[in-house]
Amino acid sequence: MPNPTFFITTYGCQMNKNDSERIAGLLSSLGFQSTEEESGADLILVNTCSVRQSAEDRVYGSQEKYLEYKKKKPNMIVAVTGCMAGRDKAGAFRKQLPATDLYFPTPDMIHLPKWIAELRPELVNSEALESDYLKLHPLRAPSVQAYVTIQTGCNKFCTYCVVPYARGLERNRPVKDILEECRELIAHGVVEITLLGQTVNSFRASDPEHFSKHNPFHDHFAALLWELNQLDGLVRLHWTAAHPLSMTDEVIAALALSKQMNYLHLPVQSGNTEVLRRMNRKYTREHYLEVIRKIKEARPEIALGTDIIVGFSGETRKQFADTLSLYREVDFDISYNAQYSPRSGTMGIKLFKDDVGKAEKRERWDELQALMEETALRKNQVYKDQTISVLVDRVEHGLASGNSNEMKFVRFPSQDQSLVGKIVPMQITQAKAWVLEGCQFSPSFV
Ligand code: SF4
Repeated sequence: MPNPTFFITTYGCQMNKNDSERIAGLLSSLGFQSTEEESGADLILVNTCSVRQSAEDRVYGSQEKYLEYKKKKPNMIVAVTGCMAGRDKAGAFRKQLPATDLYFPTPDMIHLPKWIAELRPELVNSEALESDYLKLHPLRAPSVQAYVTIQTGCNKFCTYCVVPYARGLERNRPVKDILEECRELIAHGVVEITLLGQTVNSFRASDPEHFSKHNPFHDHFAALLWELNQLDGLVRLHWTAAHPLSMTDEVIAALALSKQMNYLHLPVQSGNTEVLRRMNRKYTREHYLEVIRKIKEARPEIALGTDIIVGFSGETRKQFADTLSLYREVDFDISYNAQYSPRSGTMGIKLFKDDVGKAEKRERWDELQALMEETALRKNQVYKDQTISVLVDRVEHGLASGNSNEMKFVRFPSQDQSLVGKIVPMQITQAKAWVLEGCQFSPSFV
C-alpha cells in the first residue's frame, strides 16, 4: 500500500509555520508523505490564524472546496487546528466548518495519531510519541535559515489580542532542548537561526543549570543568547517578537553579541500613553522611548522594526498624531501597520466601543504607511555605494537575493546556484524603499 499523504495549509505568523513543521514531522514519523496535490491527500490540515477576521473567513470559505474533494474521496480527513480552534471555547466557529473531521488547539497535536487511527485505522500503526507538542521534531524544508520556537502562549493580555486565549499562558522550552535543536540544525547546514516566542525576551528557563558556568548573564533570555553565540557554525542570530517591558539592561547588552543580527523588532502598537493603557500594553510612550535610547546606545547602527495598530477604540486624531511623532523620533526602518479589528473573546471588545470609522482607520493607516515608506527610502539611501553582507537564500530568474544583517532585502544579478546559503559582501548600487540592488560581490564567503 502506498504511503498515506498529507497537505498542510498554514495561515499567520512564523510561530504557526513552525507548528506546521512540527505536525509535518509527526505525520512523517507515522509514515505519511507530503503531497502537492491537495484534492488527493488522505489528510488535509489547516493551521489557522485569528489575528484578523479575513484570515478566519478564508478558513470558512475553504470548507466548500473540501466538501467537493470528499465527494470523490469520501475517506479524506480534514483537520483544523491553530488559533481559531484554540480560542473557540464555546464551539461557535466549529459549527461553521462542515467539512471538518478533527478540530483541536495546537498543543493537542500530540493526539493526532490516535485520532487518525480512530478514523482510518489502516493509515496509522503507532500511537502518540510525545506528551508535549514542543518536543515534537519539526520537519523543515532544507534551508540555511531556521526558526526555533522557544516559547508559546502569552501572559500579557493586551486587550486587542487573541493569543492568550488561543495559545494559553506562556510556556518556555528547556534550555537543553533549545540548544540541542540548534546544534542539530547547524550540523545540517543552518547558519541563521531566528528564535520565536510571543514575547520572546521574557523567556524563563525551567532548567537554568544548563547554562554554562561562565555565562556572564543572569537574565535567562540574555543568557540563552550568549549560549547560542558560542555555537560554532552559527553565523547569524535573530529573535522575534520582543516586548518592551522585557528589554532588560542585560538583554540590551546582549544585542552587542557578535552573532546578533543588526536588527531588532520591538512592537510599540501606539505612540500615545492613554491608548497604550487601553491596549493594556503596561508601558508608556516615555518608557518605550527610554528603551530605544538604551538600545541605540548599546548598538548605534541597529535597524529597528515595529508593529502599530491604528484606529484602536477611542483613538483620537491627536493620539494618532503621537504615533506619527514617535515613529519619527525612533526613526524605524520598517513597521507592520494594522487597522484595528475587534476580535471576539478579547477584553477590547468587552470594554471599549470600536468607534473609529472604517474610512478614518484607512486614512490613518495610509498616513502611517506613507511616513514609513518615506523613512525607509531615506534610511536605505545610506547604504548606497556601501558594501554590506547578504545571506543568499535564492537564485532564480538571473537574480540572487537574500537579507542583509539589518534584515534589508537585497538582490543582485547572478545565475550561480552555489551562492545559496553563503554570506557574500555586496556593493549597493541602488537603494529603494524595500529593496537594495547590488551589482557585484567579491567571493570571500563565510
Ligand atoms: S504581548 Fe500582547 S499582543 Fe503580544 S501575544 Fe501577548 S497579548 Fe498578544
